[in-house]
Amino acid sequence: MKALADLVFDNRFARLGDAFSTPVLPEPLEQPRLVVASAQAMALLDLDPAEADTELFAEIFAGHKLWSDAEPRAMVYSGHQFGVYNPRLGDGRGLLLGEVVNDAGEHWDLHLKGAGQTPYSRMGDGRAVLRSSIREFLASEYLHALGIPTTRALCVTGSMTPVWRERQESGAMLLRLAPSHVRFGHFEYFYYTNQHEQLKVLGEHVLSCHFADCLSAENPWAAMFRAVVERNAALIARWQAYGFCHGVMNSDNMSILGITFDYGPYAFLDDFDAKHICNHSDDSGRYSFSNQVPIAHWNLAALAQALTPFVEVEQLRETLALFLPLYQAHHLALMRRRLGFTQAQEGDGELVERLLQLMQGGAVDYSLFFRRLGERAPAEALRQLREDFVDLAGFDQWAQDYAARTAQEGADQTARRARMHAVNPLYVLRNYLAQNAITAAEQGDYGPVRELHAVLSRPFEEQPGMQTYTERPPEWGKHLEISCSS
Ligand code: AMP
Ligand code: MG
Repeated sequence: MKALADLVFDNRFARLGDAFSTPVLPEPLEQPRLVVASAQAMALLDLDPAEADTELFAEIFAGHKLWSDAEPRAMVYSGHQFGVYNPRLGDGRGLLLGEVVNDAGEHWDLHLKGAGQTPYSRMGDGRAVLRSSIREFLASEYLHALGIPTTRALCVTGSMTPVWRERQESGAMLLRLAPSHVRFGHFEYFYYTNQHEQLKVLGEHVLSCHFADCLSAENPWAAMFRAVVERNAALIARWQAYGFCHGVMNSDNMSILGITFDYGPYAFLDDFDAKHICNHSDDSGRYSFSNQVPIAHWNLAALAQALTPFVEVEQLRETLALFLPLYQAHHLALMRRRLGFTQAQEGDGELVERLLQLMQGGAVDYSLFFRRLGERAPAEALRQLREDFVDLAGFDQWAQDYAARTAQEGADQTARRARMHAVNPLYVLRNYLAQNAITAAEQGDYGPVRELHAVLSRPFEEQPGMQTYTERPPEWGKHLEISCSS
């Protein structure tokens, strides 16, 4: 266990030089106060959880103090936003403070979001508000608890610094952890500015730090692209299986590591709706729930374009074609487990497809459906779940087929319940739960956000006294409008 002051830095990205990032110091927030910290994320840095209660912790993560070995820098990148290429983006309100090497020898980027203006801030104020920082914190740690690859969140620090959005709010900072903050958009930036020497440096950096397995391949770049396609197929399958809607899948928000990155107006589905659009600013539904699959493919194609100086187009095309079948195989495997099946059988895919079609247009809570399906023996569970469906005849036929399929897995309901509960969360990060915690935090009460984080860190385990967190959303909670302005 370490104290904050004892962290060891090895700033590999900073050493790539000024073509890749610019030195910028954080602009401190006034009267910082710790809102919430993740002991699990602190453990990634070998930090003693008691460090979160020190004054130094809030000072560092509000930009007042810095380790002498940190080298805060704003990274440059570009990317496709809503399908349109934006030639110059970058860390407009976040800084890569440095890379910490933990006792296991792993490197973790420390990225302070909301740290003030940088050369990439364009018209922005460089700030993040409390509400969006809490939302990213909760989601990062919750997706991790669900087993979905994601950046992590160490803490949120609140302050008295006023920040103007649609109304006056207060500034906050989020400390984000990831093995790398390199995005698809980093590659696009060097490709489209014709800095192919720098593109080579970037690719070699990413290969040696994060895709070392690919270095022995005939063409390491091609092998890396294949690994990125594979990781994204696995990632998006998890999003779809668990009802996670990202909301802003611009190519600058896609991690080269295939982890969930840059949380904005995200949502977990309440009632199942394949067409759900969680981003209030997404008029055309480009990033609707079901579009996440083709959009991930689209973003991979955008990355492929930026790799054309190093990999033959035909090879990139062949690798891209792997995305959809890989995605489908992962998704089916996850849905089988959610339905309680241990073996793969012909017809499982159709059973899943039919279920999702029956859910569409009904009032079926996507998460609780699976939890309740495992809670009791199939016949009884199905009878209770029936009332939320609209096409009752269709549901009855499905229920009959599901019960027959389940019978082939054996009659042990205790085992079935245990294996289903292990993959079907009881606690879900719903927008209304986050909103309630945010409302309290905005009034200075951090108890609710801390409790919500604690409950969500063990989403599969029933926790005594936490019944209220399992409830379906109130009507207002289903229609919260969350926009990009955060
Ligand atoms: P996002 O929508 O959060 O992924 O951000 C898109 C781009 O806008 C990134 O380059 C951000 O750094 C930048 N950006 C977002 N909000 C701000 C802000 N308040 N101040 C400066 N830059 C921002
Ligand atoms: Mg972004």
